[in-house]
Amino acid sequence: MELVAAAKTRNAEEVNAAVAAGIHAIGYNYIQEAERMRPLVGGTVPWHMIGHLQRNKVKKAVELFDMIETIDSERLALEVDKQSAAVGKVMPVLIEINSGKESNKSGVLPENAIGLICRIHHLSHLTIVGLMTMGPRFGNPKYARPYYRITKRIFDEIRQVELPGVEMRYLSMGMSNSYQIAIAEGANVIHIGTALFGESRKK
Ligand SMILES: *Cc1c(COP(=O)(O)O)cnc(C)c1O
Repeated sequence: MELVAAAKTRNAEEVNAAVAAGIHAIGYNYIQEAERMRPLVGGTVPWHMIGHLQRNKVKKAVELFDMIETIDSERLALEVDKQSAAVGKVMPVLIEINSGKESNKSGVLPENAIGLICRIHHLSHLTIVGLMTMGPRFGNPKYARPYYRITKRIFDEIRQVELPGVEMRYLSMGMSNSYQIAIAEGANVIHIGTALFGESRKK
């Protein structure tokens, strides 16, 4: 199990305490915040981009992060490949699944996930290492189970196909109020904010 500290709005002292306590990775939603915090946070844990990524921010994202969990389109993947090539990196990425099929939400629809992976797995400067889903944004987390289950099913399907450039290793799903359910449904990466740092001070 890998615990990603969802570090948005937390100060350097809090994030460094989490690193010292042994979290596996630091997750940020916004490039700007990650850029500001990067020099203030010590340790060698990997940094994960866990928020929606705009194409014009990919260059920065590739410099700042060790994994991008939110690939949801071919255009975004092409840009990550291009910018990673420019700095000589091979970027590990997760495909974000819009498992709740919510409009206005990032992530590829479950039925389009395999098609997307087939179009981008050949890219030589990114490597697909799993899937991520947030589940539905609203509602009681106990109702998230079917959405985690759908994502796990896609994960298993892709794993069986054995495409080059694809290694289905990480299934990233679950937050403070849903991680038990997510783990029961097969998650091996969880994003924890509140349960690690306490209630957020900012609204
Ligand atoms: C804030 C955030 C989390 C953490 O949420 P908590 O409920 O505070 O644990 C997880 N994932 C993402 C993408 C987030 O933005």
